[in-house]
Parts: sequence; C-alpha cells; structure tokens
Amino acid sequence: MAFAGPELLDSFQMDHQGRQTRVQNILARHRLDGLLVNHLPNVRYLCGFTGTAGVLLVAENRSLFFTDGRYTSQAHDEVKASKVVIAQLPPLAAAAKWIAANHKGKQRWRLGIEGEHLSVAARSRLAGALPGGCQLRQAPALVERLRMVKDPQEMDCIRAAVGLGASLFDRALKIIRPGVKESEVAAEMEYAAHQAGAQEMSFSTIIAAGKRSALPHGRASAARIPSSGFVVCDFGVILTGYCSDMTRTVHVGRVSAAERRGYQAVLSAQQASIDRVRPGVSCGEVDRAGRKLLKKEGLARYFTHSTGHGVGLEIHETPRVAAGQTEVLQPGMVITIEPGIYLPGQWGVRIEDMVVVTTSGCEVLGSTSKELITL
Ligand code: ZN
Ligand code: ZN
Repeated sequence: MAFAGPELLDSFQMDHQGRQTRVQNILARHRLDGLLVNHLPNVRYLCGFTGTAGVLLVAENRSLFFTDGRYTSQAHDEVKASKVVIAQLPPLAAAAKWIAANHKGKQRWRLGIEGEHLSVAARSRLAGALPGGCQLRQAPALVERLRMVKDPQEMDCIRAAVGLGASLFDRALKIIRPGVKESEVAAEMEYAAHQAGAQEMSFSTIIAAGKRSALPHGRASAARIPSSGFVVCDFGVILTGYCSDMTRTVHVGRVSAAERRGYQAVLSAQQASIDRVRPGVSCGEVDRAGRKLLKKEGLARYFTHSTGHGVGLEIHETPRVAAGQTEVLQPGMVITIEPGIYLPGQWGVRIEDMVVVTTSGCEVLGSTSKELITL
C-alpha cells in the first residue's frame, strides 16, 4: 500500500502566515505586545521550522525566528512567514538580546511566555536580559488552542498518518501467536512503519499480552505471548510531523465468556462515545457516554483512564476527553476515543480510534475492523 509521503505533503503547503496573523489578532485581547514561542511543536505550527533549536517571536506587526548556525540552510528553506535570525547565542538569549535592542527606553512592553514549556532557569535568564520596561507574563496556551482545530492541510497529513498506522496492524496479525515475544511484534511493526516512510513512532509501541494486557501502558517487553489471552496493541506513527494513534485488542487461544463479554462492552462503550461526538458537546459528555455503558455492565470501575485526547503535531494535545472536561467540541478537532477495562492480574481490553469532529457529528478516521479477532 502506498502512502502520501513527505514529498506530497510538506510543511510548505501550510498557511503559516495565516496562523501567525491569528496569533497577532488575539495578542491585545490577552494584554500582550508579543509572544515568545519556545515549545517546538508550536514553533513548527506557526512558522514551519522542523529542527530542534529555535524560538519564534510574534509581535503585533512583526515576526522573527531565532535559531543557531547548525540550522542556517534549513531555517531559510522552511521558514517563509518570519524573518530568520541566525544567532551566535542560544536562540532564547538571541531573542532576548533582540528585544532589548529594539525596546530600549520603551515604557511598557508586555512579552508573553509559554510558562508550561519554559524552565524556571530559562525564565530567569530571559528576565535578566530584558530591559527595565519589558514585562514578562505567562501567556495562556494560545497556540495550543489554535492547534486544536485542524485545517484541511493538516487533515491531509493526519489521514495519511492514520492510513500508514493502520497498515501496521495487518503486520501485527501476521506475527502474533503464542511463544512470540511482545518486543518481536513491536519491532516488526516499527520496521514496517519506517519502510513505509514514517519518520518515527508516535510513542513506544504497546504490545501487552496475557496478564500484561491488564496494564494500560504495557510497553512491549521480552515476555512471550501466552497460549491464551488478550493481546493489546497500541501504536502510532509520525508522518510529515503528524501523529496517528490506534489500539486494537486481539485474542489468542480460547476466548472465555467473561472475556467476550468484556470485549463487547468496551466496543459498545467506544461506539457510545463516538455517537456523542458532535459540535457543541463537551468533552466530559463524550467521556460520560462510554462510561455509562460500562457501568450498566458492572465494569466501570475497571475503566481507569480518560476516554481520549487531542492528536496532531503531538501525540497528546488539547482537548482532554475526560470526566468533567468542559471544553466544547468544534468542527475540525481531532480526538481519540479509547475506552478500556483492566482486570488486575487477569486481562485487559482497549479499543481506540481517532475521530474528526464534522459539522454534524464525527468521522472515524480509518476503517480497521473492530470485531474480535482470534488468532
Ligand atoms: Zn493509543
Ligand atoms: Zn491515545
């Protein structure tokens, strides 16, 4: 199967200028004159830079990207919507120096920082390098909020990542059998991912077999798949910067009545949450819909994590789909729906898909079967 690779879907097709304008338009509302963006996924989102050292300064009517000499040609290639500054200093220090030189003597210049992503030490170095009239303020998660709603170019990337990710499950089905190590299954999947053009996995592949299926985050280990039991497979790839995330649970050997009932309950809970996804509904309501179904089956106490999370440039991003979350769904948001139950020392089941919120409901991305597969 062929996938649209980086040559078809590249960062140049993204509307970085439009995204930066949206940030500039809301700065005043947050009583800021500029925003210093150092969280790399946010930097990438706003200016297209894919390297690992750089900060972006978005001010009312200008935008500068600071990086170091290692990225001279990459930054000039990738960053079109901001002025590129190649600095001898670390990027944050270079940005501070530029601000100091350009805002000397000004009465008040309010610089927003990404408090969730800037260390205490970096913040104090920044404060020390700025002139007296500059005020540092912790900005709300402005860029993360913009990133929640995906634009059509991002959806192309996400669909391609989901397609590649889903193909790895077919690979897993060919390998999973009693006696095979979990890590062998994961290694085969990851090899297939790289061969198909994935940049990397979205996270360490989870293959949790038998009793280990009761661990919600059972990274593939050296344990061998037992002769009977569930195998939880949770995996994803990064393609053109965008993540995929999917879980399927299969079974080896004879399925007990309790296991079959548990599997069907999780599947129904997932469908109940999916059915609740539409614009105007809160994330908490989506979580509640699935949980309610498991409660009816007497299994809610085994559903020990939240229902899902946003996915995009990062594997876990806003919104959180969890109990009590008041964030309201909007068209273009991409979230996972991944209920699971975990009976300690016995077995576990999780089923996960990514969905995109549409104008009237949602679309499940990918079409991999969810009927219980026994191997
Ligand atoms: Zn997952
Ligand atoms: Zn997930």
